[in-house]
Amino acid sequence: MEKKNQQTVKTIVVLTGAGISAESGIKTFRDDDGLWRNHRFEELATPQAWQQNPQLVLDFYNTRRKQLLECEPNAAHLALAELEKHFEVQIITQNVDDLHERAGSTNVLHLHGELRKVRSTKYPNLVYLLDGWELKVGDNCEKGSQLRPHIVWFGELVPNIEVAVKQVQKADYFIVIGTSLLVFPAAGLVDFAPKNCPIVLIDPKTQIRGEDANLRVIAEKAAIGVPKLVQELIQQ
Ligand code: NAD
Repeated sequence: MEKKNQQTVKTIVVLTGAGISAESGIKTFRDDDGLWRNHRFEELATPQAWQQNPQLVLDFYNTRRKQLLECEPNAAHLALAELEKHFEVQIITQNVDDLHERAGSTNVLHLHGELRKVRSTKYPNLVYLLDGWELKVGDNCEKGSQLRPHIVWFGELVPNIEVAVKQVQKADYFIVIGTSLLVFPAAGLVDFAPKNCPIVLIDPKTQIRGEDANLRVIAEKAAIGVPKLVQELIQQ
């Protein structure tokens, strides 16, 4: 089926961060009640932490996974899924939740891994969807090695970043939602948008101001700002 609006804008690339899932009940990292206010990431989200205390690391991710299963996509996730009916939409997310997929988005690239998946410590290509929320010490892959969360920890390479760069370079329109743009290399993706590509940033507390002619800042929560922008794009 021919998609509408294809003459003006063909490909919309969307970069999302923790803020888009905040209204689904998933905490961000760096806001006042964020996850890193109560935990030191060195103790929980690094390869060293996994070596020193795998139980602590598993407990942290098990708790987050259990919480995720109780959350639902919000109006922002649903609006982006709706956008796919009208444009080519590529979502690049820093989030490890699966709320974009559950909302119905089909092109979702995860930069920092996926909370509901686990992988072998020895054979990284052996990746599994975990049944339920709990991963235990002693849960092994089919070749007998301990399974770990399928998460990109601090200090690890971001395997999907090169694919993400290529996707951003093809954007006709770039939307950035709910990210502090402090975590690299993801934050650097904005610099790969083509010259003159409109960029819209939706975040209620962003420090970034719309001084660049191509940049528009919508200082609203995602569940309000994203559906409004999506309607605007569909009706243009
Ligand atoms: P961050 O915590 O650094 O920044 C969150 C941003 O979201 C802030 O700029 C904040 O102003 C904004 N925000 C807060 N509430 C919002 C709302 N209702 N609507 C729109 N924006 C809102 O998060 P980040 O920039 O995504 O940092 C990247 C790291 O956070 C990644 O490593 C990612 O994996 C991780 N993370 C993911 C999840 C998740 O999967 N849902 C949750 C927490 C952290």
